[in-house]
Amino acid sequence: MLYQQSREESAEILRRALQLMSPHPAGYHPLSYAVWYEHAAEINPPLSQDLERLQAAGNPLSEIEVRRLHALHIAGRDVEMFELAQRDLRTLIGCTVRDTGEAEQTLTCFTGTLAATTQRLAEPDGSAAPALIEDLRAQAEQVCARLTQLHAQLATQRNAVDGIIERLERAHSEPLRDPLTQLANLNGLRRALDCQGDGAGLAGMALLAVDIDYFKRINDTHGHVVGDKVLVKVAGLLRERLDGGDLAARLGGDEFVVLLRGKSIAAAAALAEAIRAAAQRMLIMHPDGAQFAGEVTLSVGAAVARAGDSLETLRHRADSALYEAKSAGRNRVAVAA
Ligand code: GH3
Ligand code: MG
Repeated sequence: MLYQQSREESAEILRRALQLMSPHPAGYHPLSYAVWYEHAAEINPPLSQDLERLQAAGNPLSEIEVRRLHALHIAGRDVEMFELAQRDLRTLIGCTVRDTGEAEQTLTCFTGTLAATTQRLAEPDGSAAPALIEDLRAQAEQVCARLTQLHAQLATQRNAVDGIIERLERAHSEPLRDPLTQLANLNGLRRALDCQGDGAGLAGMALLAVDIDYFKRINDTHGHVVGDKVLVKVAGLLRERLDGGDLAARLGGDEFVVLLRGKSIAAAAALAEAIRAAAQRMLIMHPDGAQFAGEVTLSVGAAVARAGDSLETLRHRADSALYEAKSAGRNRVAVAA
């Protein structure tokens, strides 16, 4: 659960959120409440970063921008996919309009010929009739060919629309973010790699597989609310240590990964060690304000990408190293051979 504030705290956050949202023209509705509430509560760093960036540009936030922030940072939707699908749909509709327009022109031209031919056929001298009828037949054949072509074009366009609808359904049903920690999920991680667009694959990347030690025990002893707080704190700790092109993701349960760009295995292992040490210093509070007495420790497996690696093969090596760290006693970093 992301919203863990007490009644008094949340009332104060709501008051601040209303103050923050009032200068902007976007409407007051549950989507905008959620955006400003999470920003005011400081519980969604990527949302706050995006929001602050937009505000720094000096323009008040429009309805569209607020809905976009909600879709991207709260609903975890693949906004980029929506935008691409929208663009493709527009292009496709443009093609349909053009193709049907051309077919209409062909038909209009034929209708004109038909009217002129009918008139000429009504003339008393019928000597031109065979040639006129032959001409008409040839034109009718052309119209027929054009309509067959249009039919094929429309069928292709209908398939393309089906493809776009499928992409939109996927973008809607497969969020890219984990709602609890606001980190990318596995989909988000894959999508970030797909979007690199430089064809370099995983070259020059390192991966840390991070797992909380005895997390089940934390849940069992202190309850799921504290367990969730630990997950959010660990996510924050990973996020704080990211450089420009790095990405942290929660793949499920207490399993996280950090994808590092341009780091040697030694640099990745040093970062893993810093993360491990920082986790031990984390302060976690119980919902009643008392401090969580236990210690949170992490085990980390580090691996660096080899030529031809996929995300799966790189993950597999980092996971094997993580398994070694667990077997060797936990609360440690292991590097893949
Ligand atoms: P190990 O040291 O070997 O990693 O042991 P572990 O207890 O951390 O690992 P295990 O896989 O046995 O337990 C993971 C637990 O994470 C079990 C599950 O109940 C809990 N969990 C999964 N998702 C969530 C969540 O969203 N919130 C909370 N609070 N717990 C979760
Ligand atoms: Mg664990």
